[in-house]
Amino acid sequence: MSYNCRFCSTPLKTVVADLGSTPWSNSFLEPTEEAIARERAFPLKAMVCSECLLVQTTETVPADEIFTDGYAYLSSFSSSWLDHARRYTDAMTERFRLDGTSQVVEIASNDGYLLQYFVAKDIPVLGIEPAANAAKIAEARNVPTEVAFFGRKTATDLVARGIRADLTAANNVLAHVPDIADFVAGFAILLKPDGVATFEFPHLLRLIEGVQFDTIYHEHYSYLSLAAVERIFAASGLKVFDVEELPTHGGSLRVFAQPETGTRSTTENLEAIRASEEAAGLTQMGTYAKFDTRIAAVCQGFREFLAGAKSEGKTVAAYGAAAKGNTFLNVCGVKPGEIAFAVDRNDLKQGKLLPGTHIPVHAPSHLKVAKPDYLVILPWNLTDEIVADNAAIRAWGGRFVVAIPLVRII
Ligand SMILES: [Zn+2]
Repeated sequence: MSYNCRFCSTPLKTVVADLGSTPWSNSFLEPTEEAIARERAFPLKAMVCSECLLVQTTETVPADEIFTDGYAYLSSFSSSWLDHARRYTDAMTERFRLDGTSQVVEIASNDGYLLQYFVAKDIPVLGIEPAANAAKIAEARNVPTEVAFFGRKTATDLVARGIRADLTAANNVLAHVPDIADFVAGFAILLKPDGVATFEFPHLLRLIEGVQFDTIYHEHYSYLSLAAVERIFAASGLKVFDVEELPTHGGSLRVFAQPETGTRSTTENLEAIRASEEAAGLTQMGTYAKFDTRIAAVCQGFREFLAGAKSEGKTVAAYGAAAKGNTFLNVCGVKPGEIAFAVDRNDLKQGKLLPGTHIPVHAPSHLKVAKPDYLVILPWNLTDEIVADNAAIRAWGGRFVVAIPLVRII
């Protein structure tokens, strides 16, 4: 099977990660034989383009498969994410001198978690959000929201109605759009000549350095370096002038872009991150070609841990039934029984089976009943929080385990 780059159509030659065939990472199963028999798996492979450096999955999930209950996620459920949004609002308002005459537009504005802070400052906002349920909640918060996907067409429609943006925000959406060319082109259309577009996305450098292969899943189409974003934006009428590193999602970038005719000068931060990606080999195909061997080493380490626990008669459970945990467990070939159960706070997942591995999901309160010897923390980016919240497992000698980039027992 041959593939062409999602962005520039160059034939793809270099495989970054071949994770075999796995189910959609958010398709939790009812605990019945019928549901297990019906489960489907799809190839999960990431390749890198030698021209634009975009690391991308080779398959696209049909849209009707995505908008299931997995999409019920509402941003306002996370208090740390709300703090992040409030700080962003304060910083952008001050830096770009936004006021009652400005226009802020957020793409994938969810339930208005971010724009509500601009509304509180009397700065005009508009949210663009494809999920009608989230948009409705935003409207109830006085955040005007259009139910739409973003791209050239939506941007052109907005401009025709007299809406041009001083600031656009797009957090954790750039990596999830299948047609990145059309999506990015929309910003060049929507921005005022001196407008600014910001984008946040997990940094590919962290994925490569930390062997974070579990952040690869079917609905996450692009894995972005600054180098790739600069190439893609330049070909779409935008130029990057600044970038910040953020701790979110195991290490993210916030990129600042302006129209290609914009006059803001580039920052030292931009030069520094360009240099660190260069030094890490992100502009060379050889770096990517080696990644699969590093994944195999992580899985071997974890399988050795499971085998050791079994030979000592110790029980292993997992915490956090999120997409990245499912990729990890499937790629490492974990079988039901090797991990007795998983716990998750989301009650929509409790009582179901993890996709692929068919490990049962319980409420966190089940830990006190089953008293596992080891609790594997699947969302390793939240390790400190999960260790603190579940300190009660120490009472029966329970230990925490993090598997990436190396097995670590806490
Ligand atoms: Zn390309």
